Amino acid sequence: MNSQVNPITTQAEVFESTSRCVKTTCPYCGTGCGVSVTVNPKIIATATDTDTDSTPELSLSGDTDHPTNSGTLCSKGINLLETLDPAARLLYPELNGQRVSWDQALDSAASQIRSIIDQHGPDAFAIYCSGQLLTEDYYVANKLMKGFIGTANIDTNSRLCMSSAVAGHKRAFGSDTVPGCYEDLDQAELMVLTGSNLAWCHPILFQRIKAAKAVNPNHKLVVIDPRRTASCDAADLHLPLKPGSDATLFNGLLVYLADHNRLDNCFVETHTQGFEATLEQARSSAADIASVARSCELDPAAVETFYRWFANTPKSVTAFSQGINQSSSGTDKVNAIINLHLATGRIGKPGMGPFSITGQPNAMGGREVGGLANQLAAHLQLEDPAHRDLVGRFWDTDQVAAKPGHKAVDLFRAIESGQVKAVWILATNPVDSLPDADRVRAALEQCPLVMLSDCMAATDTAALAHIRLPASGWGERDGTVTNAERCISRQRAILPASAEAKPDWWAISQLGQRLGFETAFDYQAPWQIFREHARLSAFENNPDGILRDFNLAALVDIDADSYETLAPTQWPITATSTNGTPQGTARLFADAQFFTPDAKARFVAISPRGPINTTDARYPLVLNTGRIRDQWHTMTRTGLSPRLSSHQPEPFVEIHPTEAEHQCLKDGSIARIESRWGKMLARVNISDSIGPGQLFVPMHWTSQYASLGRMGPLINPAVDPLSGQPESKQTPVKIEPFGARWHAFLLSREPLQQIATGSCGYQVRATGAGFQRYELADSGKVADWPLQARRWFGINNLQGEWLEYSDPAQGVYRCALIRAGQLQAVLVVSATAQLPEREWLGSLFNQAQLDESDRCSLLSARPPSGASSAGPVVCACFGVGKNTITEAITGQQLDSVEAVGCALKAGTNCGSCVPEIKTLLLNNAQSSDLPH
Ligand code: SF4
Repeated sequence: MNSQVNPITTQAEVFESTSRCVKTTCPYCGTGCGVSVTVNPKIIATATDTDTDSTPELSLSGDTDHPTNSGTLCSKGINLLETLDPAARLLYPELNGQRVSWDQALDSAASQIRSIIDQHGPDAFAIYCSGQLLTEDYYVANKLMKGFIGTANIDTNSRLCMSSAVAGHKRAFGSDTVPGCYEDLDQAELMVLTGSNLAWCHPILFQRIKAAKAVNPNHKLVVIDPRRTASCDAADLHLPLKPGSDATLFNGLLVYLADHNRLDNCFVETHTQGFEATLEQARSSAADIASVARSCELDPAAVETFYRWFANTPKSVTAFSQGINQSSSGTDKVNAIINLHLATGRIGKPGMGPFSITGQPNAMGGREVGGLANQLAAHLQLEDPAHRDLVGRFWDTDQVAAKPGHKAVDLFRAIESGQVKAVWILATNPVDSLPDADRVRAALEQCPLVMLSDCMAATDTAALAHIRLPASGWGERDGTVTNAERCISRQRAILPASAEAKPDWWAISQLGQRLGFETAFDYQAPWQIFREHARLSAFENNPDGILRDFNLAALVDIDADSYETLAPTQWPITATSTNGTPQGTARLFADAQFFTPDAKARFVAISPRGPINTTDARYPLVLNTGRIRDQWHTMTRTGLSPRLSSHQPEPFVEIHPTEAEHQCLKDGSIARIESRWGKMLARVNISDSIGPGQLFVPMHWTSQYASLGRMGPLINPAVDPLSGQPESKQTPVKIEPFGARWHAFLLSREPLQQIATGSCGYQVRATGAGFQRYELADSGKVADWPLQARRWFGINNLQGEWLEYSDPAQGVYRCALIRAGQLQAVLVVSATAQLPEREWLGSLFNQAQLDESDRCSLLSARPPSGASSAGPVVCACFGVGKNTITEAITGQQLDSVEAVGCALKAGTNCGSCVPEIKTLLLNNAQSSDLPH
């Protein structure tokens, strides 16, 4: 499947004049799918080009040669080209809001940082970076901080995502090792998904599981999640456990395995330590199925089924993600999972193993270079003097940081307290994504020096930065990323950098040189950094030195050419084939040799703990958070895509029907959710996929898109004592109606500043195809709607054709502005939340001229008779709407997902919309069964 993008402003240089295909990697989730982009000969645009003939054209598809995805992409990947909007980019360095040269920006940064370090020591400077960075960027940032400035105050947003997995791996294996590979998902006969809505968050991996199910009649999929997510669509068993009770469930399984003689005693005795104490501890919290079912609030029969399937299925994979990691006892939950695989010897073998699924494209690369404040580069340990000595000798420095730095939440507390006086934030948006986020914003507001590197101009964090540095974006960057199965893939440049954007490794190196470390940071190209990274990984990496899992020995002599053609390969990469191709390693621990002093894995005795900070009668509900299908993190890129913005255009709160009734909330109304840390507004989505007493909100909305849609301010800032990962899945909250007096939507060809600056309590913006969509509501009365509409439209007189309809008694007002035969803006107001569909009105912005029937129908907000509206998007890959699918189901008497796919293509790419198509089929079948 291809998609196209239109004008891209590029540097004033000719980058390419012949058609070529670039193989690169998707920049979103940790699945790490390969992407092919064909750049056609027209890509010779310059910054001054206005000639439409120079409009660049790209086409994008999945890379059929990439082992991860074999050509498929999910809705986010397939719509990548829609996110390359040059108008949204940060294009030039800025100092206190003024455009400056790179030299001016970097000189100012270096002199301020030097002064702060001289006065307050190296720990007064910090870097907060991101799993969005490439490994080369990450490597240089860590080297600068931990090796030369001499502080470990560098942490990453991966702390919020998978640091509990890192801590759990290290406790069990002596190393941060993901033992398995994606082939294990294909080969497993029992797939346990826990704390992971893989169908939406890693859709291509979910498709691999569905494919495995399709060919193996014995395959079972168990989903463990308090919510009935899209992943349950393919599940043989869903365990909707009580939030936070995961460790009890896994402890109970350990007891079951022991009591049913399903342990691998030989493996346990020969290759592990600590089993007896761990089993004893498990018995004390999960003695039998009845007590587990009580603690987890599950049906005992369902628990027994899960336990029996696991006990009887050697080929079992337990994949876990943020639902496990984002907890104040996340590390324990990870070890409770690993304990099961050690007890059964199901590790390092095909189709078996615990599997941490990482959230971001390069969370793993960050781990390799020591991106967390408590790690050193190349999987060496900061707290070990021998490891520090090795790194110091390799980097030729005596300044290696001697103690761990602040982990993410503590780092911003240190900024708040003034311990940290200068912070450089790269490729992330902590003002939205960290827990207790308003406190983070307040900390940055009073920080003497905030530097920000980002490819996007308008983020909530960028608004607080004194120095803003334009970073190369996806499609311009050159480097490597590592996905969840340890596979290192290249990200390659498709386009020249926009305006003055530069790679992050370059900016960090420039700062390092200005701080006096010229030789150590004299990099000219990313391949040089990668070669040094590979050499450090192999340096004294043997039993006589310091043996470790991460080893790129076969790449220590990589040069520019071999880096350019580097194929996706899983580390460790220590051998080459006869033709010199580096050979990766699919699985670790096949030999049951672990990276502990005695080479034995460690069981960890787990006492399940409840969440922290949750006993407060004022906040009786539990708030869960997570991703939605078509948005990525804080929407800085996916928010630019009309297709990706149409599936869920507003922040919503999922609530059980009973709970909604109890709280006097109606479906589609607006609710205020409040915790002791903050509040947000969201559209009510009543669903029995969530239990009473629980709420779910998406993590993505920021102030750039919604007035009060940020979930970060609400979130419980309690952290896991080992990993420092926040309790993002369990915040005590309350919910109440927002009490809107009126509801409205406004579609406008141009962005409306009058709304962006805030003029009503609830306002959300979404990107449409050729227009901006605003959802609005407020509790205050609007005395004069025509006047209000003109204010919002930004007009003092009609300046065009003005259509208007008003019914004050019903609280209805509608108006539209047409200029030169084109729809400019339309406003629809109602006293209730029941507003017409936006899709048909939105489609009018793509018409060169409105015809008479469209004009007549405009204010009814419904298509003229005979025409139809596609309705809200269901399939974001092919842009197929709900109404189109429903009409095809009824009109063509379609009775299966496959039939819908044949007729409309919907659901045939990444499959993420299949559950919704099934619901539409079911609704149609049920309505057909009704007596007529
Ligand atoms: Fe990108 Fe989707 Fe693949 Fe994740 S699953 S890497 S978002 S295409």
